[in-house]
This record gives sequence, structure tokens and C-alpha cells, in this order.
Amino acid sequence: MFNGILLMALVFTFGCRERVVKKHQEKAVEMILEIPDSAKAPKPQKEEVPKPVLKSLEGLADTLFVRLADYSADFDYDLRYATENNFLKAKVYDCAECYTRVKTARALLLANKEFMDKGYKIKFFDCYRPNDVQYKMWAIVPNPQYVANPVKGSIHNKGGAVDITLVTLEGEELDMGTDFDFFGKKAYHDNMDLPQTVLSNRLLLKETMEKHGFWSIRTEWWHYNLGTASNDKVANFKWDCD
Ligand SMILES: [Zn+2]
Repeated sequence: MFNGILLMALVFTFGCRERVVKKHQEKAVEMILEIPDSAKAPKPQKEEVPKPVLKSLEGLADTLFVRLADYSADFDYDLRYATENNFLKAKVYDCAECYTRVKTARALLLANKEFMDKGYKIKFFDCYRPNDVQYKMWAIVPNPQYVANPVKGSIHNKGGAVDITLVTLEGEELDMGTDFDFFGKKAYHDNMDLPQTVLSNRLLLKETMEKHGFWSIRTEWWHYNLGTASNDKVANFKWDCD
């Protein structure tokens, strides 16, 4: 009998406590909901970035050098040789700029338009490379397997080659199976031993670039040469870094 009373008293006490705690919680929720707008942290003001005034390629001679960013705001850039994040582990450009010859720029704009219709855009790792920079690279890695001999020069030195990947319109890189400048079978176009997504991404890049006059090399999924660039001269034009 006594035990029964004790049990009832305990149940009553804990029941009341639970209700009191619940009430406090409800009050707290109400208080949170009642925080006035003025007490909330002010939203940071977005800095207005002025849109660049774009130029037109119309009427320009095919072999002139142009800075791509002056003609389109729709490309992404991660110019690795202007940093130490490359296989040379050395910064060989004074500043990060992407220049090509006019005819290469025209083809890139068209290819990018086609990528953008599908929700992607081109991101550049390297573009035109002055011959002096080729000499700098050769001094670090004098091996034609990795760096073109500067005496002969490469199509990068002619303003007709680009190293690229694809990113989404939000800038997220598509999976191409390896990083840029990965030297090995995994980066080969004819290596089919890769996940289907990687193969599809590489194929989209390759087919679209080929449609716009570029050709690929077997060992580097990122490298594209403009077909009509091979006969152009190796150049040593340098851009301003101011
Ligand atoms: Zn390349």
C-alpha cells in the first residue's frame, strides 16, 4: 500500500517536471522566433564588380595575339605555370594571362558557346607560351617527353595550343580521371580502363573541340592544337604584367 502511494507520488512529481521543462522549451522557441529583425546580424553588402567591357574579334588579323578575357567573360582560368602548382614546381610566368592568336580565340569562343548550351564551360590551364618561357621550362626539365625543345618550339609557342578542362557553369571541374599534367597511361585518350563518367567527360571535350578545328594528342587529355596552327611561327610576344 505504502509502496503504491510512493510510486504514484513519484509519477506525479516527474510528470509535473516534464510539463514544466516542456513549457520552458516552448517559451524558448517563442523567444527565438520573436528576435526582432534589427537584432539580427546585418547581411554583408555584396561588392559590385564592374562588368568588363568586351571587345570584338571581328576584322582582326588571324595571327594577332589577343587576351581571351577581353573577348569573353565566359571562360574559367587556373593558369598553373603562373603558380608553383605544376609538374615543374616552378612559376615560369610573371603573371597569369591567357593569350592566343585571333584564329585560336575565334574557335575557342565557338566551342565554349557549344559547351555552355550543355551547361559547361572551358577552364584553361595554359594558353600561348612565349618561346622564352619554353626555354625556362626546358632548363628545369630538359626532357622532350615532358617539355618541347624550345629550339623547335611547341604549338603553345605558336599561339595555337591550349590546355583545358571543363567546369560546370558554377565552376565545378568535371572528373577527367587525372589532374592536369599527369604523365602516365591514365591520362591517355586511348585508355578505356576508366569510369564511364570520366570517359564521357573526355569524349564531350574531344568531340566538341574537334568539331571546332582542334586536334588532340594521344597522351594528354587536356591538350588541344588548332589544326591550322602548325605552320605559324614560334613567337616570343610577351604581355604586360601591370
Ligand atoms: Zn599543352
